[in-house]
Order: sequence, then structure tokens, then C-alpha cells
Amino acid sequence: MTIAKSLLSLQDTDQALALRRRDYRQVEQELKSEGGLPELRENCEKVRVMELESKVETARLESELAMLKGKVAELETRLYGGAITNVRELTAIETEHSAARRNLAQVEESIAPAEIAAEHARQQFEGLTQELTEKEGLWKARNIELRQEKVRVGTEYNKMLELRNAEASEIPEDDLARYTRLFRSNRGVAVVRVERGVCQGCAVRLPVGELTRLRNADGPIPCSCGRALITEA
Ligand SMILES: [Zn+2]
Repeated sequence: MTIAKSLLSLQDTDQALALRRRDYRQVEQELKSEGGLPELRENCEKVRVMELESKVETARLESELAMLKGKVAELETRLYGGAITNVRELTAIETEHSAARRNLAQVEESIAPAEIAAEHARQQFEGLTQELTEKEGLWKARNIELRQEKVRVGTEYNKMLELRNAEASEIPEDDLARYTRLFRSNRGVAVVRVERGVCQGCAVRLPVGELTRLRNADGPIPCSCGRALITEA
């Protein structure tokens, strides 16, 4: 095999390896994400706390309502019971009474929205819990699949890497070093073909002198674009 052919073959292998490596990373990433379960659990917990808080708030409002009702009733008994005749005292109780009634009305108004918020949080929690259960079930199966996939892709990758290293060992050191440097700097393309006098890497038509040089060379030569080695092989 000519050096050019060996390099092109090595490049095919290296490109295939890069794809395998990408597949492997994707599997790893998906495994790490745990199917979005951690975020879902966190969300579930947040909504659970929200539901609890709105229930506590509703209970607090209800007990305040009962307290204010008692207070209003007590003040009314004093106001209309006829036992108090002192005008200043009556005026003071009247003021207290209207303040208590205002508070009562406010608390009464706040109860419905608090109950709605609690109910909303409860429904949200129910929905999320159901989603969590479903996703946990799906993830169990996917997790097994992914672990198998990881082993499969990893094994394939290692086998291919052995082949690659065997291939590379056949290539003269200087050529390999040049190839490796270009493969890394040029996004996985180091060697490109010249077809009908045009570099397939940069689409530039080569000068005649350059083509002659290429034909006389025993391996690929650098293209004027500087990004790749070219060959007619
Ligand atoms: Zn070129």
C-alpha cells in the first residue's frame, strides 16, 4: 500500500473512531442525566412544600376567622346588651367593633384564594407524582439499555482503536506526525484527494507545477490551503 492509501485508510478509521467516541459520550451523558428524574423529584418536592404551606395558611385564616367571629359576637353583646351606658365606653367599643368586622371581612375574603392555591398545588403535586412514577418506570428499562449500550460501544471502540494503532504503526513516523497534527487542527480531515486537478478539501484548482510535484512525490504533499495533505491516490 502506498503511503497515501495508508493515510486515507487511517483517516477513515479515525473518523469512524470519532463517531464511536461521540456515541459513547452521548450514552454517558444520558446515563448521567438519569432521564431528568433528579429535576422532576426536586420539582415534586417544591410543589409538595407549596401545598403544605398553602394548607397551613388556610388553617391559619380559618382559625383567625373563628377568633374574629367570636370577638365580633362578644363586642355586639356588649354593645347591644344594654349594660354599658357610658358614651365614651360605647364609642370605644363601637370603634373596636367596626375594626373587628373589617378584619373579619378581610380574612373571609382571603380564605377562598388560599383554598384555591392549596387545591391547585395539590393537583400539581398529584400530576407530578404520577409523572415521576411513570418516568421512574421508563428509566429503569432505559438505564439497563444504556448500560448495555455503553459496554457495546466501548468494546467496539477499543477493538477499532487496536486496529487503528496497528494501521498507524505501518506508516512512517514523519508522515504520521504530519497527519496527526492536521487531523487535529482541521476537524478530522488531514488527507484529501485531488480530482481533475482540484483539491477536494479547499476546492482550489492546483497549478500545473503543483500537480507535477504531486505526481513525482512518493506520498501526499501539503495543499496551498495549508489545511490538508493532498494525494491523487
Ligand atoms: Zn486544499
